[in-house]
Amino acid sequence: MKIKVCLTCSQCLLLMFAKYMIWFATPDLYVGAGRCRLSKVGAGRRPPPARVRVAVRLRPFVDGTAAAGEPPCVRGLDSCSLEIANWRNHQETLKYQFDAFYGERSSQQDVYAGSVQPILRHLLEGQNASVLAYGPTGAGKTHTMLGSPEQPGVIPRALMDLLQLTREEGGEGRPWALSVTMSYLEIYQEKVLDLLDPASGDLVIREDCRGNILIPGLTQKPITSFADFERHFLPASRNRTVGATRLNQRSSRSHAVLLVKVDQRERLAPFRQREGKLYLIDLAGSEDNRRTGNKGLRLKESGAINSSLFVLGKVVDALNQGLPRVPYRDSKLTRLLQDSLGGSAHSILIANIAPERRFYLDTVSALNFAARSKEVINRPFTNESLQLRVLAPIKLSQKELVGPSEAKRARGPEEEEIGSPEPTAAPASASQKLSPLQKLSSMDPAVLERLLSLDRLLGSQGSQGTHGLNTPRRERMVLMKTMEEKDLEIERLKMKQKELEAKVLAQEAVDPKDKENSSPAVLRPLARRTVTVAKPLKKAVVMPLQLIQEQTASPNAEIHILKKKGRKRKLESLDASEPEEKAEDCWELQISPELLAHGRQKILDLLNEGSARDLRSLQRIGQKKAQLIVGWRELHGPFSQVEDLERVEGISGKQMESFLKANILGLAACHRCDTS
Ligand code: ADP
Ligand code: MG
Repeated sequence: MKIKVCLTCSQCLLLMFAKYMIWFATPDLYVGAGRCRLSKVGAGRRPPPARVRVAVRLRPFVDGTAAAGEPPCVRGLDSCSLEIANWRNHQETLKYQFDAFYGERSSQQDVYAGSVQPILRHLLEGQNASVLAYGPTGAGKTHTMLGSPEQPGVIPRALMDLLQLTREEGGEGRPWALSVTMSYLEIYQEKVLDLLDPASGDLVIREDCRGNILIPGLTQKPITSFADFERHFLPASRNRTVGATRLNQRSSRSHAVLLVKVDQRERLAPFRQREGKLYLIDLAGSEDNRRTGNKGLRLKESGAINSSLFVLGKVVDALNQGLPRVPYRDSKLTRLLQDSLGGSAHSILIANIAPERRFYLDTVSALNFAARSKEVINRPFTNESLQLRVLAPIKLSQKELVGPSEAKRARGPEEEEIGSPEPTAAPASASQKLSPLQKLSSMDPAVLERLLSLDRLLGSQGSQGTHGLNTPRRERMVLMKTMEEKDLEIERLKMKQKELEAKVLAQEAVDPKDKENSSPAVLRPLARRTVTVAKPLKKAVVMPLQLIQEQTASPNAEIHILKKKGRKRKLESLDASEPEEKAEDCWELQISPELLAHGRQKILDLLNEGSARDLRSLQRIGQKKAQLIVGWRELHGPFSQVEDLERVEGISGKQMESFLKANILGLAACHRCDTS
C-alpha cells in the first residue's frame, strides 16, 4: 500500500488509518501491495532543497616538516575561507570560501560539533544523512573520520551521540520505539566487500522502487550501546584493505563506508514507521603514482581508486550543470553515493588538505572538487510508512528486496540476525501491545465516528470502488476511456435497432398484406441483418422499391419510384431478382406531395424541438451534426424550413439533399402507419 501523506493534515492521517483498517479486514484486496511500503512523506510536494555542505580541514605538519622551516602553502583567512599560493603567478593567491574552514589547530571536537553533530537529528526525522571525508592520501581523512583513542574522530563521536539520542527519544512512554543497526563495507577495486563478514564475496548495489540505494545480503548488526558498536567495528576495521605507500605508512586502499540505520516505529495509531540512514565514508585518496611510488598491485589499486574518484567528479559536474544523465552507475562508489549526492540525504563533505608543498597540486585539485560539490543540491525527504503488519519484523522489507542470488548469499545464522535486528525488547514488546482493534475501542468517539463514516464511504462504493482507489491514475484513465467508448457503442447499436424497428413498422404499415406475411419467419432475415447493416440508408430506400411493384396496380399509391436517374436501367427493367443495392444507386424517389409535406413537417419539428440525441435518430445525422444543429438553433432560433439545414455550418447542400431523401420517406411511411 503506497501512501502519500502530509503529516500536518489530520484528514490524511485519518484516511491512512481508515485504509489501514480496511486492509486489516480485507487483506486480499491488497495482494502484492506490501512491496514498497515506505513512502516519501510529502512526495506530492517537492522536498525543500538542502545544499551539500562543504568543510575544509587543514591538518598540521607531520613528520617534522615544519621543523625543517618549510612554510605552509595554504593559509586560513577566517572560519569559512582560506587562500593558497597561485602556482601560475607567485604574486597572487587563490581564495576559496566554504561552509566551514578548520585550521591546523582545530580539534576533532571542533570539526564534529561544527559540521557533523547538527545533521544527526535528521535521522530521527526519518531522513538520510552522510558524511564524506575527501582529499589526497595522507591529508588526514582517516584521522578526521576515525581518529585515535586519544583523539576520537567523527565516527565514534557520532555513534556515541546517536545512541544517546535514540535512547532518549525511544524510551518507555515516548511515542516512538527506536532501534539502531550498523553495517560496514569497503569498496576495493570496484568490489563491495562486507567488513563484518569478510568471507562474503562482492555484493551488489541495488536501488529500490523509492530510489533508495541498498545492498542486499549486507550484514546488519543491531547495536544498543557504544560497547556493542566497538565490538563489531574494531575487528571489522582490521579487515580493511590497507597498504604502505611513500606518503602514508598505512594508506587506505579502499573507500570505507559505515552505514548506521535508525528504525522508528510509532507506538500508537497510526503506527507509522520511519527509517533514517547515516553514511560515514572515509574515501581512499586520489593518488599521484609518481609520488606514491606505486607499482604492480598498488598501481592497479590506485587505478581503481582514481577512476572511481574521477567518476565522482563527473557526477558532481553533471549535477551542477543539471545534465539529464548523472553517471552514478559508472562506479560502485558513486552508485552507493547516489543517495548522498544530488539525492535524498543531508550531506557533508569534509575536504582534508595538507600544508606541505609536496601536496600542493593535490591540495588545489581537492579544493576545486570541494568548491564544485558546494553547488550540488540535495532534496532530503522523510522515509515514512504505515506498519502494515504490526507484529512483522522491521527487516521484512529488506528480505523482500533480497533477490534470489542475494538470498543464496545470505548465510544461515547471519540471516537470522538480519531478519531480526531488533536489539531491545522494548520495540518488540511495544509492538506486541499494539492491536488496532483494542485501540479502536479506546479511541475518542468523535474520531471513531469519522473513521467509521470514511469506512462506510469506501464500502458503499463496493469492491469496484475499492479497486478504483488502488488503481494507478494512468490505468484508471484508460479504464474510464474504454467505458466511455463502450457506452457510445451501446448507444449506436440502440439507434440502429430503432431504425430497423421503424423500417419494419413502415413495411407493415404500407402493406397490410405484407403484415400477414410478416410472421416471425419473414421478419427474421431483417432482424438478422442488424448485425451486418453497415449501410442502413441504402436499405431504407430499397424497401419501397419492393413495394412499388405491387403498388403500381393500386390507384391509391402514394409512393412511386418512377424516374430513371442512371443511364443503364429503366423502370421496366427493375427486377426483384436484381441486386437491390445497385438499383438503389440508380433510382430516385417520387413521393406523393401530401406525404412529402408530412415528412418535411416531421423533420422540421424534430429539428426545432428535438435534443441532440433525438436528432441522431434521423438518417445521416451523427453525434457531430446533431450538436451542430442544436448549436445553430440556439444561436439563430428555430428553422423555418428543412432547407435551412444548409445554413448550418458543416452541412453542405448535397448533404442536405441526401438527408431529405433518406429521412422524408421513412417519416412519411411512419405517418401513413399512424393514420391507417
Ligand atoms: P589519509 O587517511 O587521508 O590518508 P591519515 O588520516 O592517515 O591520512 O593521516 C596521515 C597522518 O597524518 C597520520 O599519521 C595522522 O595521524 C596525521 N594527521 C592527520 N590529520 C591530523 C590532524 N588534524 N592532527 C594531527 N595529526 C593528523
Ligand atoms: Mg586513510
